[in-house]
Amino acid sequence: MAKKLFIRTYGCQMNVYDSARMADVLAPLGYQPSDSPDDADMVIVNTCHIREHASEKVFSELGRLRDIKQERAGQGQETVLAVAGCVAQAEGEEIIRRAPFVDIVLGPQTYHRLPEMVARASRAGGAVLDTDFPAEPKFDHLPAPQAQGLTAFLSVQEGCDKFCTFCVVPYTRGAEYSRTPEAILDEARALVSQGVREITLLGQNVNGYHGGGLRLGGLMRRLTEIEGVERLRYTTSHPRDMDDELIAAHRDLPQVMPFLHLPVQSGSDRILAAMNRQHTADDYRRIIDRLRAARADIALSSDFIVGFPGESEQDFEDTLKLVEEIGFAQAYSFKYSPRPGTPASGMAGQLSEEVKEERLARLQAALQVQSARFNESCVGRTFDVVLDRPGRRDGQLIGRSPYMQSVFVTAPATMMNSVQRLTITAAHSNSLGAVLAEEKACA
Ligand code: SAM
Ligand code: SF4
Repeated sequence: MAKKLFIRTYGCQMNVYDSARMADVLAPLGYQPSDSPDDADMVIVNTCHIREHASEKVFSELGRLRDIKQERAGQGQETVLAVAGCVAQAEGEEIIRRAPFVDIVLGPQTYHRLPEMVARASRAGGAVLDTDFPAEPKFDHLPAPQAQGLTAFLSVQEGCDKFCTFCVVPYTRGAEYSRTPEAILDEARALVSQGVREITLLGQNVNGYHGGGLRLGGLMRRLTEIEGVERLRYTTSHPRDMDDELIAAHRDLPQVMPFLHLPVQSGSDRILAAMNRQHTADDYRRIIDRLRAARADIALSSDFIVGFPGESEQDFEDTLKLVEEIGFAQAYSFKYSPRPGTPASGMAGQLSEEVKEERLARLQAALQVQSARFNESCVGRTFDVVLDRPGRRDGQLIGRSPYMQSVFVTAPATMMNSVQRLTITAAHSNSLGAVLAEEKACA
């Protein structure tokens, strides 16, 4: 009999990808996806350590799931409860101690062993903990991915050796590891054969990719040789790894979308050095100049941290200056938040919440002006948009523009999961409104 699997995913696209692959691994055991934990035979909480108060939030979620598990047990039904992802990796023992009703705790590198863990948990009782960084890469043990729709993620690289002083990723995801080009090309072919047209290459440091003698630009060239790969994106990149070949890929490969998420974190060289980012603000400016020379219409996105230990008003103003000079189409900005075990958490000069909040508000106001300006510049333009989600209103579909904006359009439901030419008619703060290009032509 089919069993129900509910996965709650927090965090980045890597976690979204990992959740989909965990579902693939469990499918042969009879687990089918479910929309709710209430009637699920197995619940996985795929956690993210980047969130503020990440572990406390996981424990309160687990409290709610314990109630569901107990209620189901009262009706004679078993619920396997698993905690996966970066919080599980960092705090596995603590989870088992504080939440003994959890059956399985697994890190991001061991989910290919889930079937074995499920068997061990139901056979032996008691919690199964598997937070190894195993020698055998999990990718070699995963079944072919099950694609849904026209877009898919494909993980090419994992882990990070850069050790930015604020970041937990090198500790939770482990050392940098690149998959072989052959494995990646095979997975891309499998996705295309299931109807996928747009692939987003994933990695914590995706442009640090180095597999089989290829860097990311070379890998993308090979991917575009696969018939059916119509669009390529990649995330998340580090400025230090934006090499000439990757920049040339933006110039030469029409399949590479004109959008790049390239986190800079700060515009102050002093803070960038304290963050161990290993580049200066001018290095970043030069990379952007080269990218724009290669692809004039490229739209840029970034991550920023305000209130890093020791950040002065002048350092913060250097960040505002960089924002003003570059012009971002969109961006994510965060207040610095100390992560246990990272070097920055013990640095002198920790700033007050008030200062962090005030700077975040100023930065976000500046970024908001830029994204509104960028959205307005799209009005009247016509784009090919992959429509892949229903809108909130009846008869409405949503897709992504080449520049990653959400685009809303009134369109028949039969156009779901298709690429349509849309003319942009309205710019909102975080999205665009559009009409089908043919409609516009007939009007
Ligand atoms: N690998 C990417 C890079 O090199 O920038 C980003 C990885 S991280 C998962 C995503 C973003 O979370 C970072 O770019 C940073 O802006 C933010 N972040 C990470 N640790 C943080 C911390 N301790 N406090 C505030 N923001 C943080
Ligand atoms: Fe974290 Fe990115 Fe720095 Fe790696 S490069 S330590 S993932 S912020």
